[in-house]
Amino acid sequence: MLRIGQSHYDALRQHGQESYPHECCGVLLGRVDDQGVRVVTSLVRCGNTRTDSPQNRYNIDPKELVRIQREGREREEDIIGFYHSHPDHPAHWSQTDLAEAHWLGCSYVITSVDQGTPVSTHSFALTGSEEGDKQLIAEDIEVI
Ligand SMILES: [Zn+2]
Repeated sequence: MLRIGQSHYDALRQHGQESYPHECCGVLLGRVDDQGVRVVTSLVRCGNTRTDSPQNRYNIDPKELVRIQREGREREEDIIGFYHSHPDHPAHWSQTDLAEAHWLGCSYVITSVDQGTPVSTHSFALTGSEEGDKQLIAEDIEVI
């Protein structure tokens, strides 16, 4: 399960609205509690480096990701998930999303943006023990 504050939840949906008709993307920082709940404590907007097809692909610059991870650790926050938007497509992961998801144990949050308006937001946990058996499994989002 993913637990996220209302302001962070609104902010990631807003990012999808602003980026439309392109995909937005960003990183969720926080911690995993005793029950295995991923708790978001901050959110970092990233630029989408996929200039070839930004309307249906996203990519975060690996150097930017390393910097976000380092700065997070200085605040005792870990990368616990990622978010992106699906302009005019449902808030469900694509085969490409699964292929390009590599952070086992993290949440992947997707917001569908219909004609510029954020509609639904769903989260999927990347489970499995390695690349070969990884899966994206729907999980609850608790907005607090
Ligand atoms: Zn996607």
